[in-house]
Amino acid sequence: MNALSLIPEDEDRITTNPTKKKNKLKVKIIRYLHQHGKQSIPDLCPVVRVSAPTMKRLLEELMKENLVKVLGLGESVGGRRPFTYDLNPDSRVVIGLDLGRYETKLGLFNMACMPLIEPYVFPEGLETADDVVDMLVKQIGKILKIKKISKELVLGVGVSLPGLIDVKTGISHSYLNYGQEPLANVLSGKFGLPTFIEHDTRALARGELMFGQARGRRNVLCLNLGAGIGLSIIVEGRVYQGTSGYAGEFGHINVDPDGELCYCGKKGCLETLASGRTLRQKVIADLRSGKKSMLMDMAENDPSRVKLPMILQAALDGDQYASELISETAVHLGKGIATLIHLFNPELIILGGMMAAVGNLLSDPIQQALNTYCMPRVRQDTDVVISSLADSASLMGAVALVIDNILDKKP
Ligand SMILES: [Zn+2]
Repeated sequence: MNALSLIPEDEDRITTNPTKKKNKLKVKIIRYLHQHGKQSIPDLCPVVRVSAPTMKRLLEELMKENLVKVLGLGESVGGRRPFTYDLNPDSRVVIGLDLGRYETKLGLFNMACMPLIEPYVFPEGLETADDVVDMLVKQIGKILKIKKISKELVLGVGVSLPGLIDVKTGISHSYLNYGQEPLANVLSGKFGLPTFIEHDTRALARGELMFGQARGRRNVLCLNLGAGIGLSIIVEGRVYQGTSGYAGEFGHINVDPDGELCYCGKKGCLETLASGRTLRQKVIADLRSGKKSMLMDMAENDPSRVKLPMILQAALDGDQYASELISETAVHLGKGIATLIHLFNPELIILGGMMAAVGNLLSDPIQQALNTYCMPRVRQDTDVVISSLADSASLMGAVALVIDNILDKKP
């Protein structure tokens, strides 16, 4: 028996094929259970618009396919208590991919977004792999084989990636550009699995909204502090995208008209002063000109080997030079964040991404800069925290994206 596809081919068309018709009804049941939790046959019948005997048959088939489980007797509404049914979250797997510039994280999750394994981290990314898509196809195949999971049981793949991604057309302009072809279509074809893509910083906000400190909050700014500086703006509980999906290019606001040239082509962007990429370049230059730091040992006396995580580790291990540099970076960030607070009056700012791993070494100087540069009345209602999801928020958000697109569709 083939596993039931939870994205029916002719989802939006009326079908007369009895098998396809039945499958559509089953998908309706699955989505309703996902969105509303356990239900009884009398609850489900009016939603799916079938008779009780038909519903019973459909549920029995779904139980055979392992997608639904029976929980026992529910609340009585007078008379006999009906059995309740719920989704079996372990019946399908979601693949999450956090595609970075220098590394890639891959995680397997169940339908309740619970991790099934510790995420794999590959030391190859968009800027370092020869053919990143080919690498992903191979790794996905390998991991499914190791875990003995058939492709049919994969609900979908969620991909978080950096750069400029047009939400209207689905075209990724900075990385993996396939002309006019939307990237998700290209990847769906290559993986042979339904694939959804999201900008990394918005994926991070999805992750924070679903699993992190933004849960239940209305107005939150999520910062993605890695090689670049990303910003996701949550307004009234929703991630704000802007006209084409480019809202939040905070790293490329001008802060120094006579500053360094940024890789975006402009001069003096915030990223030229406060990004992980700039931090790394500065460390390499300083070590080459004889700066004393444990980083020289960590890089085996070759400054070009210094990577951002190494600098963060050195700071955590008490290296004075690394800590001072992070503090300087944080003050520049704080000045920028002060502007954001004046514009958005958020209740919470979440510092996430790779740089957040240094915790207070980053957040304390940011707090101090905010005290210096914000109007106190505007500043007082904004909490600043380090993300509790560490640097896995984008990966979690990529998984949430698959669930949103497949199971959160209206039944
Ligand atoms: Zn720039």
